[in-house]
Amino acid sequence: MDTTTTSEVLQDAAQRAVTYLQSVRHRPVIASPEALQRLDELKHPLPQRGADAREVLRRLDEIGSPATIATAGGRYFGLVIGGALPATVAANWLAAAWDQNASFRWTSPIAATLEDVSLQWLTDLFGLPDGIGGAFVTGASMANLAALASARHALLARQGWDVEARGLYGAPELRVVVSDEVHVTVLKALSLLGLGRERVIRVPTDRQGRLQIDRLPELDDRTIVCIQAGNVNTGNFDPAAEVCRRAREAGAWVHVDGAFGLWALSSPRLAALAKGLSEADSWATDAHKWLNVPYDSGIVLVRKPADLHAAMSASAAYLDEDVEGNREPSHYTPESSRRARGVEVWTALLNLGRDGIEDLIDRSCRHARAFAQGLAEHGFEILNEVVLNQVLVSFGSPEVTQAVIGRLQAEGVCWCGGTIWQGRKAMRISVSNWATTDADVRLGIEAMLRAAGQSGPLQA
Ligand SMILES: *Cc1c(COP(=O)(O)O)cnc(C)c1O
Repeated sequence: MDTTTTSEVLQDAAQRAVTYLQSVRHRPVIASPEALQRLDELKHPLPQRGADAREVLRRLDEIGSPATIATAGGRYFGLVIGGALPATVAANWLAAAWDQNASFRWTSPIAATLEDVSLQWLTDLFGLPDGIGGAFVTGASMANLAALASARHALLARQGWDVEARGLYGAPELRVVVSDEVHVTVLKALSLLGLGRERVIRVPTDRQGRLQIDRLPELDDRTIVCIQAGNVNTGNFDPAAEVCRRAREAGAWVHVDGAFGLWALSSPRLAALAKGLSEADSWATDAHKWLNVPYDSGIVLVRKPADLHAAMSASAAYLDEDVEGNREPSHYTPESSRRARGVEVWTALLNLGRDGIEDLIDRSCRHARAFAQGLAEHGFEILNEVVLNQVLVSFGSPEVTQAVIGRLQAEGVCWCGGTIWQGRKAMRISVSNWATTDADVRLGIEAMLRAAGQSGPLQA
């Protein structure tokens, strides 16, 4: 039996988390070989008798914390990972204590309300049409799935076909247009929806990974066009305004995969890049990337809430909202029981405010430009126009670039991954963590130069 009180174990956890977050900024980004070795200690049979809560927590911290990757610190620049604002970590703890099931308004009035409020705030922040529908899901993958299910519903309903009831057997054919740079999670969503990941029409892209508008096929009212806001390699955007104009005329559906790029809508400095995005029919984004809430958290937004509702609702009843006509969360999500993800989204939005969000986005972009400039000054080739938070750099031949990445990762001062960009090996730098400072960027550039065999401190 537990001898530890609830208060003791929660205070202990808070203390351990604080200690972790204080040290994570200074430790190597990767886990040490010794830390990985110790993971073996966890691999034992399930004991007959339970352990005291504090003892379990001690074990989790002592073995677990060193075996983490320091993505919560300021010098992890791999993938597009984001961090977690302290307020959102704290809100996450409180929400865990609440242990709400966010399915329905009656299972959690607070979760449903925070979702309502957050959806309205996001609509305003992104400048999207009023009255759009949305849902809180695990990430952009599920947001893409829910959005494309809405598209499938809407286009087939217009053809007089009820896809939720009858499936795709004998249904009118839909066409799906994607760019050559489509994210794999969009293709995965298409495969899950029976639309086929290889049955898509691929549109060539330009040197920045943008869909070439003059190669877009004729659109019609049975076509879904998937565009991207924020290419994972270049950070660049497809020409949303022109795609949406053509789609609107033809009755086609435009879906935006904006896992991180959609947040450009919150910065006036990025308005040119984000132009036309608000004209789309659906949008997928992540909160766990650039909004800096804890994993996992994504958001799907759909212009007509009824389309998302029809695609996601478990029952065929059309308007089964609560008696006051309020939105029932679970009628808009792929899941039934769910944690209350709106809690951290609401917390981040309120904690940052419009100014803070704009600053977070602009600061990340500024850091990315600083990386590009610092590396270019030392003669390394930047492969993309740094328009957002992503930087691609080549250190020479593919072998040399790969070796630099390997040395950088092993040293552990910062972490970047490799990628292939238009046939060329590159290192990719992504800045999306609130915790990244100018000093982190400087230390990061120095580490990259060391890994590339150029040492010596940078100019101030
Ligand atoms: C990260 C990402 C996704 C997938 O998001 P998850 O949060 O991992 O589900 C989809 N599209 C793009 C452009 C992304 O960067």
